[in-house]
Amino acid sequence: MRLVEEHKIDAVFLNTSIIPWYRKFDRGLRAVLDKKGVVFATFDGCYLRSPRDVLKDDGTPFSVFTPFKKKSYRTPVRACYEKPSSQSWIATRKKELEDLDLYPKEDWADRLSKLWEFGEKGAQKALKKFLESGLNGYKKGRDFPAEKYTSRLSPYLAHGEISPHRIWHAAIRASAPEKDREHFLSELTWREFSYYLLYHFPALPEKNFQKKFDCFPWISHSKELTAWQEGKTGYPIVDAGMRQLWQTGYMHNRLRMMVGSFLVKNLRIHWHRGRDWFWDCLLDADIANNSAGWQWIAGSGADAAPYFRIFSPKRQLEAFDPAGLYVRRYLPELGQLPTKYLAEPWLAPEQVLRESGIELGVDYPYPIVSIKESREAALLAFQEISKKGKVEGF
Ligand code: FAD
Repeated sequence: MRLVEEHKIDAVFLNTSIIPWYRKFDRGLRAVLDKKGVVFATFDGCYLRSPRDVLKDDGTPFSVFTPFKKKSYRTPVRACYEKPSSQSWIATRKKELEDLDLYPKEDWADRLSKLWEFGEKGAQKALKKFLESGLNGYKKGRDFPAEKYTSRLSPYLAHGEISPHRIWHAAIRASAPEKDREHFLSELTWREFSYYLLYHFPALPEKNFQKKFDCFPWISHSKELTAWQEGKTGYPIVDAGMRQLWQTGYMHNRLRMMVGSFLVKNLRIHWHRGRDWFWDCLLDADIANNSAGWQWIAGSGADAAPYFRIFSPKRQLEAFDPAGLYVRRYLPELGQLPTKYLAEPWLAPEQVLRESGIELGVDYPYPIVSIKESREAALLAFQEISKKGKVEGF
């Protein structure tokens, strides 16, 4: 209010947020400004369409992606607004921000700023690069983590450095095969769907969308959780994903699904633990996408992967990183190991390990869990809860 009074501000314009605590804040702000007679105008700048407008014919929200997408597509995405021709800043702003003392004392993110160009300029460059060399081939290529087919726009979207509208229209204008473009727009719509779910189900970051998961017998083992966080599970593809996260602040989507499945299904650790670690490490940490992503992989979400779909690290590596390029990039200790043993290094003959410079248990861990046994145990636990509960949601 001090700023409003000091600078005689007569209107405040704001992009609305769907994040529950910001919605509360916005309501409070509106009430205060209304009292002062200051105009308070809000826009849906962070999402392609307002979640209030995409509803089933009976007026209730969708909980399944495909009909949500179909209905969403009936409303065209609005054009981007151009930059205002003139802008002036309140001179004290920078100083006031510095006074808030928000910067960390230790610049732990230093290494990340070498890998990413932050800010609007960086976002524009990433978009241009993707449209020129990633969109063509996206549909198939997006599943291969060693390839260049994903945009890496998520951190910029998460921090409002680019709008989804700008990305949408740029993709529509780009020259690319229709199947690739459509798939990319569909992924952007998954982002919308996460926010949509969060809007209609604000407990999404905390509570299981499907209540039957409330009685799922999670296990709280901390040694295994640490091994997962540090990328030391003994399963190279899982470990490579976790190390990519730690080293770059980003993880490829296929890996997010894979490491997520490993945590909640093979280790049976609550999805909240995965959510929290991702929240701490991801540059694109986003309350809607992160919560929806974890609930999706846990099987507890709206339109989630069925619980019985448990990713096999071996098959995933063989299918999506067949030459082991991604794994070797993040696990240099396995750099010399022949590709045929890369999924399961503990099956490599002693001599091969020796020639590859690997002593298992020293240079690289033995597996912390048996995939086969943990899979069976997880399926059994799931069968138990399925007997008890029915699917619920909003
Ligand atoms: P691209 O393939 O280039 O896609 C373009 C954009 O579409 C992305 O930037 C993103 O906004 C959206 N998108 C793509 N895939 C998805 C998806 N599966 N769900 C929702 N939106 C999608 N995304 C986040 O932005 N923040 C998170 O905190 C987050 N946590 C996740 C946690 C789990 C367990 C899982 C399985 C997924 C999570 N995702 C999250 C979704 C997805 O993994 C990332 O959006 C994607 O990997 C970002 O990379 P990209 O920009 O190169 O994607």
